[in-house]
Amino acid sequence: ILAPPAPTMADARATLERVWGHADFRGMQAEVVAEILAGRDVMAVLPTGGGKSVCYQIPAMLRPGLGLVVSPLIALMTDQVEALKQQGVAAARLDSGVSMDDRSAIWRQAKAGELDLLYVSPEGLAQPHLIDRLHDLPLSLIAIDEAHCVSQWGHDFRPDYRTLGRLAELFPGVPRIAVTATADARTRDDIVRSLRLDGARVVVDSFARPNLQLSAVRKENGSRARTDAAVIELVRHRRGKSGVVYCGSRDGCERVAQALKDAGTNAIAYHAGMDARERDKRLERFLAEDGAVMVATIAFGMGVDKADVRFVIHADPPGSLEAYWQEIGRAGRDGEPAEGITLYGPSDIAWALRRLDSRPMAEEVKAVQVRKARQLFAMLDGATCRPQTVRRYFGEGAADRCGVCDICQDPPALFDATVPAQKALAAVQRLGERFGKTRVIDHLLGKTKDVQPWETNLSTWAIGADTAMHTWRDVVDHLMFEGLLVEDPNDGKPLVMLGDAEAVRGVYRGERVIEVRLTPARVSAPR
Ligand code: ADP
Ligand code: ZN
Repeated sequence: ILAPPAPTMADARATLERVWGHADFRGMQAEVVAEILAGRDVMAVLPTGGGKSVCYQIPAMLRPGLGLVVSPLIALMTDQVEALKQQGVAAARLDSGVSMDDRSAIWRQAKAGELDLLYVSPEGLAQPHLIDRLHDLPLSLIAIDEAHCVSQWGHDFRPDYRTLGRLAELFPGVPRIAVTATADARTRDDIVRSLRLDGARVVVDSFARPNLQLSAVRKENGSRARTDAAVIELVRHRRGKSGVVYCGSRDGCERVAQALKDAGTNAIAYHAGMDARERDKRLERFLAEDGAVMVATIAFGMGVDKADVRFVIHADPPGSLEAYWQEIGRAGRDGEPAEGITLYGPSDIAWALRRLDSRPMAEEVKAVQVRKARQLFAMLDGATCRPQTVRRYFGEGAADRCGVCDICQDPPALFDATVPAQKALAAVQRLGERFGKTRVIDHLLGKTKDVQPWETNLSTWAIGADTAMHTWRDVVDHLMFEGLLVEDPNDGKPLVMLGDAEAVRGVYRGERVIEVRLTPARVSAPR
């Protein structure tokens, strides 16, 4: 008997056109599909909205056998499977919500060779009987969606993903594909190692999102009311457009949503404090209603596919550049112009570090997360093109300036603050890391009230009298964003301390140039 001819790229294109109505593959999709069609393992790093799912769906339809898809969220699975079924693709999912009868039907269908795609959760795969049943079937491929969940360096670590490496031994010869939108070099290595994708080709698509216009605005320290007012202003200026406002806490989320509603916006609050049904209802409203603005915590995220989101505003910044890119990446998925606006302030980085510190995790993991938070703040308070910074961080060395972000449009004036930085670091050190920001600045200016001789005797007393107070604030804040100074909470009376010792030494020795923006864009006072 003749074996059926192996599927070709022409078949793949025909399927893309027939089932999805897309004229051709875009970006690196074609390369990824070609690898799997040839039966080889592949790891695909494609940006959000880059069309990761068809990369495995099409080969699963074309290759003989069942395509197994491991996906981290039931909501994600449900969406994908429902969409596939509507398009006439034989797909099913097995999760805790599927009845016994439906399960039997799915297995019958699979046995009869009538099923192209089966979605399962990593927990589901941990059950031996499921593996046994899969062993009886020919598999076309194994796809691991959102593969960064395997890495504790990533921001969505799922311990269950750790066990997926054994699929390599359980199903030898079945091509495996790992897909993710976020992976810096370290996470990428981790994915390859954990999932035993040693020989896999790693395909990394460009992370450019030319239709996104990005900007960042400095918050006034401690003024929540002003930040809220600024968010309302921003949303009001975009009335009628659909958007997402990310908040760092559930309280903040409820508060901002209410304020937006009071201002006449169709705002919907969304966070993990609501039960699943309520969240689903709210998500449906967001998808269905015109000009809806989702005010959410990070509980709102993975798998949200609304094409015409015109803006993403961070009322509070995320935890890393990966999270930043993924979250602002939810805007403009239709390719039309969209905006990403991030509000950030010194209290945000202090809060982020405090929260990390209180988390139960290994010290080395914590250290990486702290570094990631700092890199994000350095970008936000920095003076280089925002997409260029992020894409270089993702390993795209050749990324050019975007030309449309706030930095490209209006390059900020910088001044060389290396000497002031040395003075500020020395002052913090001499003062014994026992004082807050205002007091440190007063010391630099020589303005401390009721000053004692021990202080005037310090070599740092009044060494900054030649510089304006607001400049000192900008310098000290910037040193915090760069991690050279840290704010220790000290029960609500934060103390300024020295940051990473090696980095601080670099500044003292003049090896590290500190550039500070003369006038960072700031949240404006409410009118
Ligand atoms: P991701 O999972 O990478 O975020 P999806 O797989 O959800 O992205 O795809 C995002 C959108 O892009 C979907 O609406 C999808 O139909 C569309 N899409 C995928 N591939 C193509 C293509 N080759 N041409 C045009 N649109 C595409
Ligand atoms: Zn730019």
